[in-house]
Amino acid sequence: MRFAFISDIHANLEALEAVLSDIDKKGVDEILCLGDVVGYGANPNECAEITAKRCKSVLLGNHDAVATNLLTTQHFNVHAKIAIEWTTQTLTHANKSFLAALPVSKTTDILTMAHSTPYEPGMWYYITSLEEAAFNFQFFDTKICLVGHTHIPMIIVLDDEEIYVHPDKQISYKEREDRRLLINIGSVGQPRDRNPDSSYGILDTDEKLFSLHRIPYDIHKAQAKMKKIKMPDFLVNRLAEGR
Ligand code: ZN
Repeated sequence: MRFAFISDIHANLEALEAVLSDIDKKGVDEILCLGDVVGYGANPNECAEITAKRCKSVLLGNHDAVATNLLTTQHFNVHAKIAIEWTTQTLTHANKSFLAALPVSKTTDILTMAHSTPYEPGMWYYITSLEEAAFNFQFFDTKICLVGHTHIPMIIVLDDEEIYVHPDKQISYKEREDRRLLINIGSVGQPRDRNPDSSYGILDTDEKLFSLHRIPYDIHKAQAKMKKIKMPDFLVNRLAEGR
């Protein structure tokens, strides 16, 4: 099976369309979304509808939870608050119902998926260090766990008690029965690793190969729409800077 993983779309329709078109070109069996479908961008309804239609499963992100009143804006900065208030007012009732019903994590026979962390996924913690990654490896039993939330793509490997960040965009676990992976697939709609291109991942379970991909999209168009609905300049500008 070939799976594509997308996350942190954040209502950026141009980015979502570019990523889906690349996924279609490459060909996969299923697309799975790890949450934060909305928040920040100008097209929350379109992104919710396309994600619902194209993805085999979708997880709840913290922005989706706030937009649907499952969570308060208590932990949001001023920019995120302005964006989510507009999003809450703009989302249709049907799209809010879809988002509000999403689970915070999902486990299959081979995979664990969560928007934030495998440890207490509804608490929205971040994995920003190897110490936090090592802690989280204790909270899933599968070989591979995929997350989003930080918007920074990263493959963290646990081999023989050793934990490290994989230096490449692709990793095989074919010859390594003991190898376990904690993978952040990055963000479709608001990358923050100084590379403005959309990020997503592909897992081939027959080849036992995972790869991260970067796709350029029409950033100017996404920014122009955000300006039109008066999103804060900080949120508009960061798309071009990838931060
Ligand atoms: Zn996010």
